[in-house]
Order: sequence, then structure tokens, then C-alpha cells
Amino acid sequence: MSARTMAERAQRAIAECRRIADLSEEPDRTTRRFLTPPVREVHQLLRERMEALGMTVRVDAAGNLRGRWQPPGSRARRLILGSHIDTVPNAGAFDGILGVTLALECAEIAQELKLPLPIETIAFSEEEGVRFGVPFIGSRAAGGRFDAALLRLKDADGVTLEAAIRAFGLDPTEIDKAAIGADVLGFLEVHIEQGPVLEAEGLRVAAVTAIVGQTRHTLTWTGHANHAGTTPMHLRLDALAGAAEWMIAVESIAQHTEGLVATVGHLDVEPNAANVIAGAVHVSLDVRHVNDTERKTAVEALLVQAQAIAARRGLVVQSTRQMDQPAVPMDERLTAFLAEAIEAAGLPVKRMSSGAGHDAMVMAARVPTAMLFLRSPGGISHHPDENVLEEDVTAALNVCERFLQRLAAEVG
Ligand SMILES: [Zn+2]
Repeated sequence: MSARTMAERAQRAIAECRRIADLSEEPDRTTRRFLTPPVREVHQLLRERMEALGMTVRVDAAGNLRGRWQPPGSRARRLILGSHIDTVPNAGAFDGILGVTLALECAEIAQELKLPLPIETIAFSEEEGVRFGVPFIGSRAAGGRFDAALLRLKDADGVTLEAAIRAFGLDPTEIDKAAIGADVLGFLEVHIEQGPVLEAEGLRVAAVTAIVGQTRHTLTWTGHANHAGTTPMHLRLDALAGAAEWMIAVESIAQHTEGLVATVGHLDVEPNAANVIAGAVHVSLDVRHVNDTERKTAVEALLVQAQAIAARRGLVVQSTRQMDQPAVPMDERLTAFLAEAIEAAGLPVKRMSSGAGHDAMVMAARVPTAMLFLRSPGGISHHPDENVLEEDVTAALNVCERFLQRLAAEVG
């Protein structure tokens, strides 16, 4: 059989993503949480592909489906390629899974080019955190960062993570064995951007430089609940109006700070009634920046701003930090290879940070990691309208081919 063209490979990868989107917990939409029944069907389909490529296939104790291919005579360390196969509720067809179907195409490309580069493809079992409220279960295990306490987590039906793993026919006491060792030279994750940047700039792909750091706080604004009809404006202690003034300040500070995104996405108003002045409001704050110092400075400024607004209005505001996660840089050398590959594929070299977390973030702590983004049409993701353009997938494969060749030249 003659080798497929890149366009044919792109078509096949897209068709597989669409087919896998039908393997769902729900009849009319795509929802595939960690180790639920449709995951077995996804494994079956991917396993057949891996076996057809001559790979040695196994499912590790965290439910990651892994295929390994060792080129004849090669003793080089292997490159891992992959992404996740779980989804959010009512998901699109490409988040995660595209990185798996493209990993399989890459393995075949490496074989056809007879590259002396051992390859492992991993379909990570869990990244979204939907079933157990904690993300990256699959990559934590592969990255050697799985905390056994996670096994006690329960899903909405009261099933523990440990029981879910056993019900899938796996042994949770073996999770340590899922961790990759020193025989790995790197990890490459191909993923849709899930945002509007590449489309706005008319670009197909980008090399990811880092996953941004993230801080989350909850702020509680306290005033005084009172009658909405009898309390004159100048005698009010309106917690919601104070929070609202601050929310506009959050937006403004972020708009005027390069690379900063800051979001108030959740409000809990007490008593939350149309005819009562709000006595208390709990407000979320999510701040992200690729530079940790910039992020910390911004969070500090936003909290100072909250105190100033509260003081002027006679309110009290208290904040609690929920999360403080530093930025995770991708490996400089592999990212430089990726940038070279983008250029060699005849594409403009775009470098950008990722505002969302990915398996690459977890794997980067264990092994040199690079990440390639593809344009998301309409910037849409975590939605059934999520899409990719065939020409962009073809372009990504052209980049991957050159990246594989570059790595093979290093090890060969
Ligand atoms: Zn994803």
C-alpha cells in the first residue's frame, strides 16, 4: 500500500475524532468521564489502531491506554505522544482526542520514514476533572505524581476512584508502575488552542511556550441586609454594589496589564432577593499570567483595590486563597525544535502561552515536554460546535513530521 498523503492522514484523524465523539455516556451528546463504559469502546478502537502499527499495547493501572513501538535495532530513548480521551459534559469532538489520533498518525509516519526513534502513544484516561473533581488523573500517574489519597475521592454516585479503577478491571495498587522512567526523551502533546488567538491572527499552529500560572481567591463582601424600599440610598451598606464596583476594577486592571486575564465568574448573593439589599456576597477571582511575578503583583493590586472600595463604602471584605499555581514552562530545547519544524513546514512561527491546563503541564515536571496548538475555529471549545480545519490538521502533521525527523537525527 502506498503511503498516505498528509491530507489523507488529516482526514482520517478527523474522522476518527468524530467517530469517537459518538462513544458517549449520553445518547445525543458527547460526555465521556473517567473509566465510564464508553471508554472501553474508545480503548478497543484505539487498541486496534495501535496493534495494526505493530505496537505493544497495555492499559496501565490509571486507565491510560499505551502503545509502544521500538524500531528494529534502536536503543534510543523514546518519545511519548498523546493527550486525553475523557471529555467535559456535552463536549466537542476534538479536545484531547485529536492529540491521540494525531499521535497514531505520527507513529505511522515515523515507521514509514524508518526513523530510529522509539515511540509511545498514550491516550490519557482523565484530564478534565469532571467525574472526581480532580483533573489530570491519567497524566499524574504517568508523570509519577499520583497521590494515593486521591483513590478515596468519590464521584456523584458515591463511587470511589479506587472502586472505579477496579470496576474497569485494573489494580489501583499498581499505579506506581504507570510512571515513566529515565528511558523517555520527551513528551509532545498536540491540542486545539480552545481560544480565539490563532484565528484572530490567521495562523494554523503555534508552539506553546508555557502553561500560565493561576491564582484563585474567594472574596466575601459583608454589608448589611435591609429593606429595598425603606432604606434611603445614603444609609445603605450594599455588599453587592461594592462587589460590582470592584468587579469593574478587576476587568479594568486586567485590560491594562499585558498578558493578564482576570475573571469573576461566580457570585453567591445573600439573601439574593429582589426586595432586599444584599448583606453579603461571595465572589470568585481567577487570575492568570505566564509570568508568576506579574500574576502575584496583579493579585496583590486587586486585593488592595477591594479593601479601598470596601473602606469607602463602609463594607468589610475578606479574601481566602483557594489556589496558587505557578506557570509551567515547556522545555526550551524541544520547543525550539518545534519552532524549527513549524518554519521548515513553511508556516509562520508563532509562540504563545496556554491559558488552560493540559496533560503537558503535569508531564513537564517529569520529562522534557513540548506542546503544539492548532487553531480553534470561532475560538470554540468545550461545546459541540468545537471544530478543526482539515488544512490546519494537515499543517500540524507536517510540523510533527519535521519534529520527529529532528529528534531522530539527535538520537540516531
Ligand atoms: Zn484538553
